[in-house]
Amino acid sequence: MFFELPKLPYKPEDLDPAISVKTIEFHYGKHHQTYVTNLNNLIKGTEFENMNLEQIVIKSDGAIFNNAAQVWNHTFYFHSFKNNGGGVPKGPLATAIESKWGSFENFKTEFSNAALTLFGSGWAWLVKDSEGNLSIVKESNAGTPVKNGLTPLLTFDVWEHAYYLDYQNRRADYIAALWTIIDWDIVSARF
Ligand code: MN
Repeated sequence: MFFELPKLPYKPEDLDPAISVKTIEFHYGKHHQTYVTNLNNLIKGTEFENMNLEQIVIKSDGAIFNNAAQVWNHTFYFHSFKNNGGGVPKGPLATAIESKWGSFENFKTEFSNAALTLFGSGWAWLVKDSEGNLSIVKESNAGTPVKNGLTPLLTFDVWEHAYYLDYQNRRADYIAALWTIIDWDIVSARF
């Protein structure tokens, strides 16, 4: 199928200052768009041409996997935030996080640490397995839990392109800011 860059569920200025308009312009408008364009070009005339995005992520490798997974990951990432987000999850997800990590604050520390210590480019994920157990996983480059049959709930993109315009080398400041824009209604609904 032909893929298009999904529309953002907020205005470009809505996440500022955690994510500036400039970063949205480049990270969403250029990087995310380029993965979409590359994927469309790469799958032409291949067995992947008629698959949906998840099928391509699961079945491909190499350049097609890299671009398909980056399209999936970025769409998921950009659809996890809102203007005046932040706070804490509610309902069953809140209960599951407290059960696993003792408190939301402990979970936040563990997740932030995973994102901070991921070497090079990649993604930190909160995932659910088929039995409903939560865990935090680190994936390098285009890595995605979708490939391993896990259900992603939340991700932080820690490629430098996600934060360098706003924070330069201060990845920790970018990670701290992301907690202020998370849309916990969306994240909780994924659980
Ligand atoms: Mn990115």
